[in-house]
Amino acid sequence: MQNYIEFKNVTKEYKIGKNTLKAADKLNFTINKGEFVVILGPSGSGKSTLLNLLGGLDKVTSGSILVDNNEVSNYNEKQLTKYRAYNIGFIFQFYNLLPNLTAIENIELLNDIIDKKIDGNEVLKQVNLEHHATQFPSELSGGEQQRVSIARAIAKNPSMLLCDEPTGALDSKTSYKIIKLLHDLCKKENTTIIIVTHNASIAEIADKIIHLKNGQIEEVEIIDNPKNPDKMEW
Ligand code: ADP
Ligand code: MG
Repeated sequence: MQNYIEFKNVTKEYKIGKNTLKAADKLNFTINKGEFVVILGPSGSGKSTLLNLLGGLDKVTSGSILVDNNEVSNYNEKQLTKYRAYNIGFIFQFYNLLPNLTAIENIELLNDIIDKKIDGNEVLKQVNLEHHATQFPSELSGGEQQRVSIARAIAKNPSMLLCDEPTGALDSKTSYKIIKLLHDLCKKENTTIIIVTHNASIAEIADKIIHLKNGQIEEVEIIDNPKNPDKMEW
């Protein structure tokens, strides 16, 4: 589907004393269903702001965000909660797992609020962690914790995965496995994947690269022949 996601003049301002900072400054772009998109830009350029606005964690100051022809930027709190629960999977740099819950409990956490119940064991298998179900985050390696957080994000079968520097805390071999996993998901399940990263190798496999600078879009690159992840260099 064309234009699954559309940003129209999206602006996010923060007031700092008397000054106004534009963390997002008239962003215009579109993303198709099943696209693998990389967001590049220096620290402070507005990458996390963009993800948070799209994921309904933050409100636009002006402009509109359309997802599947729905104006998400106009949603009220109740609609946003539903949108986040059903449509969005978030993956963060430092995993954001709850330390007092086991791997499987972290994944099945949503079962309290969603109708279609998640089978944590089934999802753990998808990330090859079925033998670690009852371990706590502190008993898992960084890569394993990130895989639990991916399992948690994909468990509800979201239409998009928003990943904020998902390999930032991992060694290169583990990062590669995580990126392969995300790329497979994108191509097999048609999940739209948007990844904020500093890693140029990840950008090489993207269908689209959005370059940000000072809250503005510097360039949107559409890649006709992205590199196969098997040929990625680290
Ligand atoms: P990036 O993820 O690219 O490093 P961010 O989106 O986190 O950048 O931030 C973009 C700009 O907005 C930065 O200058 C940052 O300081 C500012 N910013 C982000 N969140 C807030 C906030 N809650 N209050 C004030 N300024 C913020
Ligand atoms: Mg950030």
